[in-house]
Formats: sequence, structure tokens, C-alpha cells
Amino acid sequence: MASSTKVDLDGNPIKTMTICMIGAGGFIGSHLCETLLSTTSHSILAVDVYNDKIKHLLEPESLPWNGRIQFHRINIKHDSRLEGLIKMADLTINLAAICTPADYNTRPLDTIYSNFIDALPVVKYCSENSKRLIHFSTCEIYGKTIGSFLPKDHPLRQDPEFFMLKEDVSPCIFGPIEKQRWSYACAKQLIERLIFAEGAENGLDFTIVRPFNWIGPRMDFIPGVDGPSEGVPRVLACFSNNLLRGDPLKLVDGGESQRTFIYIKDAIEAVMLMIENPARANGQIFNVGNPNNEVTVKQLAEMMTEVYSKVSGEPSLESPTVDVSSKEFYGEGYDDSDKRIPDMTIINKQLGWNPKTSLWDLLESTLTYQHRTYAEAVKQAIAKPTSS
Ligand code: NAD
Ligand code: UDP
Repeated sequence: MASSTKVDLDGNPIKTMTICMIGAGGFIGSHLCETLLSTTSHSILAVDVYNDKIKHLLEPESLPWNGRIQFHRINIKHDSRLEGLIKMADLTINLAAICTPADYNTRPLDTIYSNFIDALPVVKYCSENSKRLIHFSTCEIYGKTIGSFLPKDHPLRQDPEFFMLKEDVSPCIFGPIEKQRWSYACAKQLIERLIFAEGAENGLDFTIVRPFNWIGPRMDFIPGVDGPSEGVPRVLACFSNNLLRGDPLKLVDGGESQRTFIYIKDAIEAVMLMIENPARANGQIFNVGNPNNEVTVKQLAEMMTEVYSKVSGEPSLESPTVDVSSKEFYGEGYDDSDKRIPDMTIINKQLGWNPKTSLWDLLESTLTYQHRTYAEAVKQAIAKPTSS
């Protein structure tokens, strides 16, 4: 295989790879494909059931990377072609999953099958064929923080030991079985344990990624425009939808939960380092998030309202938010992670990576995209029922 002149973090030339990317047509996959095609000479075998988000990379054939990306419309649940693609590749990246919280308690079986059962053959084929695997897990694997069990005003709640999420130290704390929200986290935990065990017992070269609320353009869908009208996407798309329609943003249980948000482009830089530095990434589990961008969901709603008004030129509502119970919004069995701050020690040490983009800046570029992409379509969708 040809070698590019690019070198890795240890000064060794980076070999050109063929990457089998499963779930390439999703939010993260589309950004990863874009970066791989425009900044490297690696080739991609892109596997997904959809390709709308990577259409711009597949057509027209005159694009400079023509020939370096091949789309395979495959449902990994039942397709014998998967093993062949994994065998053809040097590295497999598995992004495929059901990963929207509205599904965890309403479609727990699909969630468990998607995040555990469907990932099993991928791990097996990589292990049996001695192929490297980068598997996407989740920050939700940590569940609730230890501090969340202390009384609300207990001083230890402020102690990082009680909330900082560390890959090699923190426990996984989920709610009871009837809180089906945890079906996703639990399935992701078991597949992590299986991959880790394949590494320990059979020598699988693996890297596990735990994303902490990566957000940016192309995340999820806008209900009634490019997704079902009754669908409930993740918070960025929910709030974008409300802003585009001029509706108040819905705060689930008061919007008190805390999250750290990271710009997709920063996060992709971390994944690129993992791809091109196997010696530093193999055998590791990495948190990938931005500990500096912490807000409550209520604060996120307020900031998005302000940013959207700036980028759209439209005034914000007098009452921009409205409270809604989790039962009303998500249904029975919903529960929540209280706080998610990633510890960055391991990724810093192994890959020297740090996130850069502030929450305000990432919201400004993302909401500019949302407004440009959807404002007109939403106007038409709103006008439709009255004109028919
Ligand atoms: P996404 O839903 O946009 O992408 C997932 C892709 O996988 C979709 O295009 C979907 O069509 C595809 N897919 C699902 N099942 C499939 C199957 N059976 N066969 C073929 N393709 C299938 O989600 P995303 O945000 O890009 O997330 C990617 C991964 O990262 C997931 O594993 C998710 O759990 C994990 N993750 C993401 C975040 C985040 O902040 N975005 C946070 C935590 C974990
Ligand atoms: N949320 C909200 N209003 C919405 C959508 C989500 O208050 O319209 C809250 C949700 O309850 C959670 C947080 O926003 O506390 C983040 O939700 P998301 O769907 O992005 O996924 P999570 O971070 O929980 O995995």
C-alpha cells in the first residue's frame, strides 16, 4: 500500500488505509467521511441504510476524492456482505446505533438489539480476522453521578471526586429496570465489556469512544421537514425546531440537568488522531467532550434563543421556554443523567488532544446552518395545513 508523507504523533509515516465505516450516513459519520476525504488519502467503505447526509460526498463523480468512497446500502442486522467488507478494510469504525433518548423507553427492545446484538457480528468479524476496531459507545455509560445521591445542598456535590467522569475509575450507575431509559446505556456497557474482553483474551486491537454530547450541523432531523412530524430528536434538533417555528422551547422537568456540549469539528479531530495513531489509541477507552462548555438545559435554551435571534434577525418570544414533565414529553420509564463532565486526562496523555470551540461559537455556526437549511421549509410546512 502507498504511504502518504504525513506522519503520526511519533513521527512515523501514516499508511494509507481502507476504512469500513458502519453508520457512515449518520451525523458523526457524515462529518468523519468529509474530513477523511478532504484531508487524507484513506478510502472509505461507507455502510448505512441511509445516505442522505453524505450524498454531497458521493455525487457528482467529478469530486476530487472520486473513487475513495463507496456506499453500501446494508442493514447490518441481516446482511452477509458485512464480513467481506470488514475483511477488505484495515480498520472498522462502528457508529451504527439507535441513539435518541426518546427511543430508549418507548422502543427498548429495538434499542437493546441495535446497541448490543447488532454490534456482536462486527466485533466477532474484527476479532476473527485480526482487524482493528474503533467502536462508538457513549458518555451515558456512566449513568448518574455519585454526587446525585447526596442531598441537594451537600458540600461534597461540589467536589470533582463526586461528579467527574473518569474512564478507568468511575462506576456505571443506572436506575432500576423499569426506568427503561437505561436500556441504551446498559446495552452499550455490555458491548464495551465484550470488546474489552476480546482485547484481553483474543488480542483484538480496539479503541472505544465515549462521546459527550457532540453537536453541529446535520444532527438528527427537523420534525415534519426531514423526519417524522411526531418524532423527538436530541435536544439540539428539538430546540432548533422550536426556534424555527417560533414556539417556546420545552424544558423537561425544569431543564435542570447539566450537559457539556462539544462542537462536532473538534470531536472529529480527536477521532482522526485515534485513526492515525493506532499505537497510542489501541486498548484505550476515550472520553471525547468539552469540560469547559457546561450548562444546564435551561441555560442552553436561553443561549440558543439569544443566538438564534442574532443569526435569523427575528426577535425572540417574550416567554421563550415552557416547562414540561418528562412523562408528558418522553412517556413512562424516562430517567436522566444529572451531570456529565468528561475527565480529559487519558485522551490528553495519549493523543495530546484538547477541544477548542466555545459553546457560544459552536451554537452560532450550528444555528446559522439550521436557519439557512430549514427556515424556508419550516415556513412552508406551517403554511400547508391552512392552504389545503
Ligand atoms: P446517527 O443516528 O446520526 O447515526 C447512526 C447511523 O447508524 C445512522 O445513519 C443509521 O442509519 C445507522 N444505522 C443504525 N442501525 C443500522 C443498521 N442496522 N445497519 C446499518 N446502519 C445502521 O447518530 P450519531 O450521533 O452519528 O451517533 C453515532 C454513534 O455515536 C452511535 O453509536 C451513538 O450511540 C454514539 N454517540 C453519539 C453521541 C453524540 O453526541 N452524537 C453521543 C453519545 C454516543
Ligand atoms: N431536553 C429538553 N427538551 C427537549 C429535548 C431534550 O429539556 O426538547 C433535555 C433532556 O431531558 C435531557 C437533555 O435535554 O436532559 C439532553 O437531551 P438529549 O436528547 O440531547 O440527550 P442526552 O444528553 O440525554 O443523551
